[in-house]
Amino acid sequence: MNFKFSEEQKLLREAVREFAEKEIKPYGREYDEKGEYPWDILRKAAKLGFIAADVPEKYGGADLDYLSCVIIAEEFCRADSSIGSALVAASLGCPMVKYFGSEEQKEKYLPKIASGKAVSAIAITEPDCGSDVAAIKTRAEKTDNGWILNGTKTFITNGSIAEWVVILAKTKPEEGYRGISAFLVETSWRGYEAKRIKKMGLNCHDTAEIFLKNVFVPRENLIGKENNGFYQLMRFFNESRVSVAAVQLGIAIGAYERALEYAKERKAFGKPLIEHQAIQFKLAEMFKDIEAAKLLVYKAAWLIDQGKPDPALSSAAKLFASEMAVKVTYEAVQIFGGYGYSKEYEVERYYRDARVGTIYEGTSEIQRLVIGRMIAKKSIF
Ligand SMILES: Cc1cc2nc3c(=O)[nH]c(=O)nc-3n(C[C@H](O)[C@H](O)[C@H](O)COP(=O)(O)OP(=O)(O)OC[C@H]3O[C@@H](n4cnc5c(N)ncnc54)[C@H](O)[C@@H]3O)c2cc1C
Repeated sequence: MNFKFSEEQKLLREAVREFAEKEIKPYGREYDEKGEYPWDILRKAAKLGFIAADVPEKYGGADLDYLSCVIIAEEFCRADSSIGSALVAASLGCPMVKYFGSEEQKEKYLPKIASGKAVSAIAITEPDCGSDVAAIKTRAEKTDNGWILNGTKTFITNGSIAEWVVILAKTKPEEGYRGISAFLVETSWRGYEAKRIKKMGLNCHDTAEIFLKNVFVPRENLIGKENNGFYQLMRFFNESRVSVAAVQLGIAIGAYERALEYAKERKAFGKPLIEHQAIQFKLAEMFKDIEAAKLLVYKAAWLIDQGKPDPALSSAAKLFASEMAVKVTYEAVQIFGGYGYSKEYEVERYYRDARVGTIYEGTSEIQRLVIGRMIAKKSIF
């Protein structure tokens, strides 16, 4: 690896941190309790170019590299696990359009997301299948001037608040993964319905079940080539997994810093917690794991910027950072003792919000499967 942060990236980190400390951190509990999407914060972040930051300027974005997007995600989630990750997820549908969409699609759909006026989504998972993408049942049937979509999607981030959703559907069911296509669907179109799902954490995120009943999609809203959806998705995962890894890294840093501060203040048996070796060792482990995750996440992002995304490394970054965040947030709650379990402190939220990291964007088991297959085929070292 031959990367270091550029001066621009260092300045970006400072700017995002300043914004996140002021505009995100103080509102974490409020939004967690209200369970509402942080639209006002999204708009403020978008004004500074922090939303959909990798979208080219031509389509309203800041045209930043992927490592810069990782810095933004990390700093957002360090400040607050729920709001931070909700802001990162605003642009979930954008990469499919950016990489595979037509010029018209890019011009029509990307600027509103980059300006924070709307959020997007990508819908793959269905009630009967998540990990096994090739098993999706949502059907797209061809008509003279477009497609008719029918099916149900579930656990879709932004599903009931997004302006548009990238929907993966079968265009040639008999061909398995070779018969999947991606469609750009506006949520105002007839036949699109969504119902919000209640969750353990990420309360200010909108996560929804989507019902598609004879939704007509015009021909021009097919993304890229017909039956190419699975391959597009694999490309999408190369980046989105690094984005989730950055979110998890930020959550872990936020929990670690809060636990460290508390361990210095809180006394037990006449001395600060940090002077008890058991607590010091916990913090040492947390520090070590966070630093290791940084290297993986930054390297995976840097490879994307070099035009050489490595699926095994993207999966490794996601796997390591998400499991690390679950462990670190668990230990943060432990260091806070009873207060860690109370709503008075933020670490309980970090713990709840970190948990999904090993599940979405491909579970830990699936990441191991991807890495295993890649290393069996070729050496990545
Ligand atoms: C908060 C949240 C937000 C989400 N956002 C989105 C979104 O925006 N868009 C979207 O499309 N989806 C989204 N998801 C869905 C998520 O990606 C899936 O839940 C995930 O991929 C797992 O699929 P599943 O739930 O169907 O589990 P299953 O695939 O049924 O798996 C169940 C268990 O079996 C294991 N397993 C499955 N196959 C294998 C195997 N071959 N070998 C070993 N173990 C295996 C899994 O690892 C898991 O532990 C979201 C989920 C949540 C909770």
